[in-house]
Amino acid sequence: MTTLLCVPIMARSVESAHADAVQAREHGADIVEYRIDELFSGPEDEGEVLRLVGDSPVACIVTCRPTWEGGHYDGDDDDRVSLFERLGTGERPPRYIDVELAAYARSANLRQKINLAVNHAEQRRDVSTGLILSTHDFSGRPADLTRRLIAMGDQAAASVSKVAFRARSLRDNLEIFDILAERERPTIALGMGEFGLMSRVLAPKFGAFLTFASLRDESATAPGQPTLDELLNRYRFRSIGRETRVYGIVGWPVGHSMSPLIHNAGFEKVGHDGVYLPLPIASSESGKGGYESFKATLLELLHHPGLGLSGCSVTMPHKEHLVKLATEEGWELDSVSRLAGAANTLTVASGMPAVCNTDAVAAIGCLREAMGDLAGGRVTVLGAGGVARGIAFALAAEGVSVTICNRSADRAETLAGEIALSFPGLATSSPWAGRQDTSPDAFINCTSVGMSGGPAPDETPLDRAVFERRKAVLMETVYSPVRTKLLSDARDAGWRTIDGVEMFVGQGARQFRLWTGRPAPAALFNRLVRDALGG
Ligand code: NAP
Repeated sequence: MTTLLCVPIMARSVESAHADAVQAREHGADIVEYRIDELFSGPEDEGEVLRLVGDSPVACIVTCRPTWEGGHYDGDDDDRVSLFERLGTGERPPRYIDVELAAYARSANLRQKINLAVNHAEQRRDVSTGLILSTHDFSGRPADLTRRLIAMGDQAAASVSKVAFRARSLRDNLEIFDILAERERPTIALGMGEFGLMSRVLAPKFGAFLTFASLRDESATAPGQPTLDELLNRYRFRSIGRETRVYGIVGWPVGHSMSPLIHNAGFEKVGHDGVYLPLPIASSESGKGGYESFKATLLELLHHPGLGLSGCSVTMPHKEHLVKLATEEGWELDSVSRLAGAANTLTVASGMPAVCNTDAVAAIGCLREAMGDLAGGRVTVLGAGGVARGIAFALAAEGVSVTICNRSADRAETLAGEIALSFPGLATSSPWAGRQDTSPDAFINCTSVGMSGGPAPDETPLDRAVFERRKAVLMETVYSPVRTKLLSDARDAGWRTIDGVEMFVGQGARQFRLWTGRPAPAALFNRLVRDALGG
């Protein structure tokens, strides 16, 4: 069964709702859901609703959601049931009507009237409209979810069961997938909110009856609901099937990551049956902690029988958590990740997870392209955070003498000391105030200074004068904006520069190769990221 793509339309007038329905069809929707709870307030509005449905340019579901189930209708139940009767038995009926399980189960009278208007095994009248029985919880997973599912299953007149609740974490999606896998009739099951996106995109993988997508960006009012464009073009909804492999970016927050953009486009380009999703795993506001939820969530995703999680990018604040988990679980771990204590890539082949650090390898690749053989060279690394650790260890492993300069001197000293243990004589630290006095073959900025949205977006970690004294190489890891002040100053002074997009594309391309076994379309990645960032 093909999963339908449905666009919900809050009908405020017949004309505007029809205009939206035409747009939805033109953009690839199969069906629309007219939410009539703002259009219909009583029998005097029946004519408008009949016109809305009768003249609809697209097959439709009609829903009049009451306030007690999160909608706007606060009129009489008898009135909306009479409307449904007229719609179902009329000349141009809707494809489906949606009625809340709670209302349907509560009143035998309502049940009887609805049953007269919809198509089911006992129906004697010539009607075609199907009944969607639905249940929603906007606050979280309902404690009585199982009871509700059984109650819906018991109602023989229903054609489709629908369950929607606010996902509290990625793990709620797995229960949603299990509901779909065990369905006895066509079923809609989805998680609302940021954590529920996965259930909406992967609906075809688990045989859902339909999924919803908005016509416009309604992220402010319907968080987690993708737009039609995102679903069809970014996530390639029509190509998702049971065998489609799942990948994603694990982090917190992950909403603005460029990784879904490049990897999904890459899968399309090489014909890989995969989809790449944001996989938010929350941590505390300070970014500290969060290991237990990272571990529990990732292990559940990996062990879910139907999901087929085949790889992840891992970003802040979970890069250290990935190494800790790999060590605890005995997964394969590459030497840079082990030494640096941070990794950004998980690959699952034949059920065996392996972890590596493509950030560091990509940075080394970029430097080698600019400088040739790195052994015996001198590099000053600015910063001692996650990215600095990986790069500094990888440089030392290449035989480069590394000087670490960090605002917090203790972190620089600790990192240099750790590197020197594995690579004696190849790492020192220098005070942050003296960073401009080092004379390396290359500077690498691994601080977040200059990053938009970061702690010092308008600053630069090196004075312009540094670039005027001599010529060497400057590598920037910040990629938003593409052209930081640091990069511009170095370029203007005639330095060889490497921008953060080169490293970003490099680390993504290495992940892509690990996951698909094919070379990444790096030129495509590069163009997509630069177009998106305006650089
Ligand atoms: P992190 O672990 O939070 O480390 C941040 C570093 O920046 C620390 O060394 C910190 O110093 C320093 N810092 C912050 N504010 C500063 C300021 N006002 N003055 C001086 N130093 C300051 O972050 P991360 O994960 O290593 O990421 C660092 C950068 O790498 C980010 O800008 C990110 O965009 C970039 N990145 C790029 C790629 C890529 O592919 N191009 C991939 C990942 C990350 P303290 O220790 O004193 O706090």
